[in-house]
Amino acid sequence: MTGQTMLPQTILDDEQGRLAALRDLDVLDSEPEDAFEHVVSLVRAVLNVPMAAVTLIDADRQWFKARSGIGVAETPRNVSFCTHAIQQTAPFLISDARLDARFADNPFVTDDPNVRSYAGIPLLTPEGYNVGVLCAIDDKVRDFNEAEVALLGNFARIVMNELELRRIAERDQLTGALTRRGFLDKARQEMDRFRRYGRPSCLVLIDLDHFKQVNDAHGHPAGDAVLREMAATVVGATRPVDSLGRLGGEEFAVLLPETEAAEALVAVERFRVTLAQHDIAVPGGSTIRVTASFGIAPLSDSIATVEDWIAAADGPLYAAKRGGRNRCELLH
Ligand code: GH3
Ligand code: MG
Ligand code: MG
Repeated sequence: MTGQTMLPQTILDDEQGRLAALRDLDVLDSEPEDAFEHVVSLVRAVLNVPMAAVTLIDADRQWFKARSGIGVAETPRNVSFCTHAIQQTAPFLISDARLDARFADNPFVTDDPNVRSYAGIPLLTPEGYNVGVLCAIDDKVRDFNEAEVALLGNFARIVMNELELRRIAERDQLTGALTRRGFLDKARQEMDRFRRYGRPSCLVLIDLDHFKQVNDAHGHPAGDAVLREMAATVVGATRPVDSLGRLGGEEFAVLLPETEAAEALVAVERFRVTLAQHDIAVPGGSTIRVTASFGIAPLSDSIATVEDWIAAADGPLYAAKRGGRNRCELLH
């Protein structure tokens, strides 16, 4: 998408839709990435401001995908300038926050870092939702001029393109599941949450049973159709917070956040039965059924890396295969 004429109409009165669009980008709480770091340092240099950020506005917080000159990783929404910026279709500009009733008593104004002026351009998705803001912040009173605001606007479009590309790159073309890399990133975030808050989480490895025979009997395109259907079937049986990844070939994995081992076993048993009972239409007009084997590893202190976590689920997966396939096994 290029050019101003293609910009979508902004939808300002649908917070649920906006949050869904933000979740779709799969960016909240991700690791720092060069493309965004680069933009904020350019904004700082070109606009000559001490602070700049790529901010995403979640339900009750603003989270910085990239920040320069800003000390915290996130803040509540009620002290956020950017929260106001996403309610606009135009750039949001403040020359002196002390003179603005909305910000005069804001702790970031009355105290460190002594925000005075602000320029924010909403990050508009192709569907028309303002999911966040690219902002430049100064501790001096200042009027951002037209050329500066236009520059910031161009940088905001770069940020939005990067967010879109990032989303495309982390999805597997055939199945729509996360790629191996996308999945490992997710699993890493889950491990951080476990270390910080001790929240339970399970990783499930899935391997289709006798999949070579599907390819041999029905052809590779039929095999591909099975992979697509199997991904759709599993996703259909998961909660929105769960993530499916394609680790390679016909091996998949599901991340089940906030899930104890016993609950995971119930969920995975549901995946197994749903898949086994699902008729899959394959090229040529026939339908076939496939089964899969599942290995479940709850996160624990003895698991240090994502690779360890996957390896931990590999044992029970192997046990499920050895035990006759079309089974779930849990790591003990
Ligand atoms: P098992 O029950 O022991 O898992 O038997 P299996 O036949 O599934 O054995 P294995 O997991 O080793 O075989 C994987 C097969 O998956 C080999 C390969 O032909 C097929 N495969 C891997 N990636 C793709 C793909 O993208 N498309 C298709 N159609 N087939 C694939
Ligand atoms: Mg395999
Ligand atoms: Mg297999």
